[in-house]
Amino acid sequence: MQDIGPDPRKASAPSAAKKKAEKALLGCHAGPGVMEDAARSAGKSDTLDQLAADYPKGPHDQPQSMCPAFGALRVGLRMRRTATILSGSACCVYGLTFTSHFYGARRTVGYVPFNSETLVTGQLYEDIRDATKEIADPEKYDAVVVINLCVPTASGVPLDRLPPQIDGVRIIGIDVPGFGVPTHAEAKDVLAGAMLRYARKEIEAGPVARPRSLKDDRPTVTLIGELFPADPVGIGALLDPMGLSVAPQLPSREWRDLYACLDSRVAAAVHPFYIASVREFATAGRPVVGSGPVGVDGTAAWLEKIGAAAGVSEKQIDAAKSAALPAIRGALAGNPVKATVTVSGYEGSELLVARLLIEAGARVPYVGTACPKTEWSKDDREWLEAKGCHVQYRASLEQDLAAMKDVKPDLALGTTPLVQAAKEQGTPAVYFTNMVSARPLFGPAGAASMAGIVAAQTGGRARFADMVDFFDGVGTGETAGYTVPSRAAASPMSAGD
Ligand code: SF4
Repeated sequence: MQDIGPDPRKASAPSAAKKKAEKALLGCHAGPGVMEDAARSAGKSDTLDQLAADYPKGPHDQPQSMCPAFGALRVGLRMRRTATILSGSACCVYGLTFTSHFYGARRTVGYVPFNSETLVTGQLYEDIRDATKEIADPEKYDAVVVINLCVPTASGVPLDRLPPQIDGVRIIGIDVPGFGVPTHAEAKDVLAGAMLRYARKEIEAGPVARPRSLKDDRPTVTLIGELFPADPVGIGALLDPMGLSVAPQLPSREWRDLYACLDSRVAAAVHPFYIASVREFATAGRPVVGSGPVGVDGTAAWLEKIGAAAGVSEKQIDAAKSAALPAIRGALAGNPVKATVTVSGYEGSELLVARLLIEAGARVPYVGTACPKTEWSKDDREWLEAKGCHVQYRASLEQDLAAMKDVKPDLALGTTPLVQAAKEQGTPAVYFTNMVSARPLFGPAGAASMAGIVAAQTGGRARFADMVDFFDGVGTGETAGYTVPSRAAASPMSAGD
């Protein structure tokens, strides 16, 4: 019988694995469940189950802000002697690196490109392993972070099989898919928690390097969350009468700071969504305290809880309160806020900001946060609800917009699309990340700074109304620039040809 070679119909029929890989290539446009199904059938069920437990979804399952992986990328890029490699679609990597440089990363981001063949055959994993080996130079780096974005996660690229260290350089491989991590805030925790876990195991295995940042031998408090740089200094002053000082923050700036974080007496979950990180502190036997020293009530309650968790005396706690509270009370009284404000954001500090505004005299009927409900913001939620404020966890943009339209505030603090919508209706609005998170929040400094933002923005209300009148009808409907002109208005050429 003549050999006619392989059946061409079979050769061209894509395998089930290839079909899945091709669907997964669509990334966040693949449709509900497609990426998650692909990831589960590619062996990532344990990872997805852990992400679902740590970062429960709903009401929105897909990110409504920037790509979540940016949070993990940012945490890695801010650490000294740490290299970061992204594994994902080129368009995702372009967006992520663009955003990281927009925020001043000034660091190279490594990238391992792929196509559907290297995904299906497992070659991508080999390429990532080779790239990791190439970059893991102990002269330059303490750690190499490799981040799987959506497509490699959905295709089951097994970063957990990377060697834990190469020539003494730690290798941290994490999956940060948009279909498993709802916000970029929580993606910070994915990397911070993975690093903390690695450092905890190093401590358990034997002596580790002494953190450079340790200045004295007082017991410390680790502040969890990316805070405005002056805030840890201010919190250090609040802790001083209790004989406590602040440990290096988490997310950390250098690997050995992770040891100091774990060596603290108490961990303070100031940003309440660091679930994986809190798990590591709990495993290391460290008590965790929620909320933060914001306003008079918040500072008093926080100092009491920190003091009790650290085992200091009642007398020391009272001394700390006596030193801090009159100054905060004075700052609030000297900077009253007379305005109705809605607060929305995805930073995790929204409830704390709302507390401060209310203590300063503002009316805050609504606070929405993209972050989930956790026990670390319970005190803040209860305090706010007692003041008549509606707290919306996992707030969608639609909920934030509806609240703003309903309340008609003097000032809306929110995300970019919310601020845009507010300005369109003539409501003064401020972008939460650039304006609110870029100022102190805690202690007397926080009390004074918040009033400044509100006064500066609400004062421009008449200007906003003028702008709405001036631009009335511009940029909407037929004037938006991309709609098809009506036949009557169309040129003869476009109509006839
Ligand atoms: S990595 Fe980010 S941008 Fe890329 S598909 Fe996932 S969510 Fe979308």
